[in-house]
Amino acid sequence: MTLPLRLPGEGCRFWTAGRCLYEELLNPGLCSGHSCSVLAVLEKSFDAFVARGEFMGLSAEEAGRIWERRMDAALNIGWDCANFIFLPDCAGDMPCVHFRDGICILCLPACPGRCRRFELPER
Ligand code: SF4
Ligand code: SF4
Repeated sequence: MTLPLRLPGEGCRFWTAGRCLYEELLNPGLCSGHSCSVLAVLEKSFDAFVARGEFMGLSAEEAGRIWERRMDAALNIGWDCANFIFLPDCAGDMPCVHFRDGICILCLPACPGRCRRFELPER
């Protein structure tokens, strides 16, 4: 018996580079497995930085201002990610082609083809 072929999911509003954004858009940020690992390391560094600042009597705002000045250096950390691909002319903070709004596209489930959640993009 031959199984029916699925239509491609491309064109669905949740489709992105062959992956499915449905679960992520349903509960944005809930699944830590979707996070960019490099950003997660930076966030941990920032939390530790704020904690050290508090210990030294700095307010969160003061610590944030100092961190901002150090961001360039922080973003020059070794990109400890085998899948990192540099995105030239990136206006955002995370110059990787797989990065979108805090998540790594490569961590999303693959779209197996058109499913019951298929929706056309809003116009
Ligand atoms: S067709 Fe289904 S699996 Fe594919 S992107 Fe759309 S919602 Fe996700
Ligand atoms: S591939 Fe890019 S977006 Fe994904 S975890 Fe690595 S640096 Fe982050």
